[in-house]
Amino acid sequence: VGIPGVGKGTVIHHLLRIAKAKGTSLTYVLYGDVMMRIAAKRKIKDRDELRKLSVKEQQKIQLEAAKKIHSISHHFLILDTHLLIRTKEGYLPGVPQQILEELAPTNLILVDADPAEVAARRAGDTSRARDKLNVEEIKSELELSKQLLLTTSALSGCPFMIVRNSEGKAEEAAATIASALKI
Ligand code: ATP
Ligand code: MG
Repeated sequence: VGIPGVGKGTVIHHLLRIAKAKGTSLTYVLYGDVMMRIAAKRKIKDRDELRKLSVKEQQKIQLEAAKKIHSISHHFLILDTHLLIRTKEGYLPGVPQQILEELAPTNLILVDADPAEVAARRAGDTSRARDKLNVEEIKSELELSKQLLLTTSALSGCPFMIVRNSEGKAEEAAATIASALKI
């Protein structure tokens, strides 16, 4: 988990390489992709448009996606998702209690980074349509996501880790996760 542009996908990409080198089977699931497949009939162009649907609709798709993910057979599954989603009605939790129960995670890992670096990463990644927030707003989202991480951990009983994805050091962040999870 982590806010948009913090580098989850990038870190996981390195994690998949580490797993491959060690011969560990690791299934990577992008929550937004599963939601997109469910929302395909709703004329949505990309993952960045999901948060523009009505909150009711997003909640319905979220839950359906969690059920799909629950049914994926795996040895080790890494789920890439957001703890908070910026919607027109304010922040929507990405992993509310019902979804948390459905997913039944074993570990929670928050990818964290410097707010100014996140702003630069968002600006530099033209392949995506992330919200353009200023550094203060990004800082506040990073703080909010940490609070939600604690709540999610307390609700689930899962241990949590906060892994720093420093500039140019995504591989190190992945190595930290691999070592903690014995991948
Ligand atoms: P989203 O939740 O929106 O999918 P994300 O957390 O998956 O975002 P990424 O797509 O992995 O974010 O990264 C966003 C951008 O930041 C990409 O252009 C990526 O190359 C860059 N980036 C990620 N990690 C680092 C890093 N450690 N140093 C420099 N650039 C990075
Ligand atoms: Mg991503």
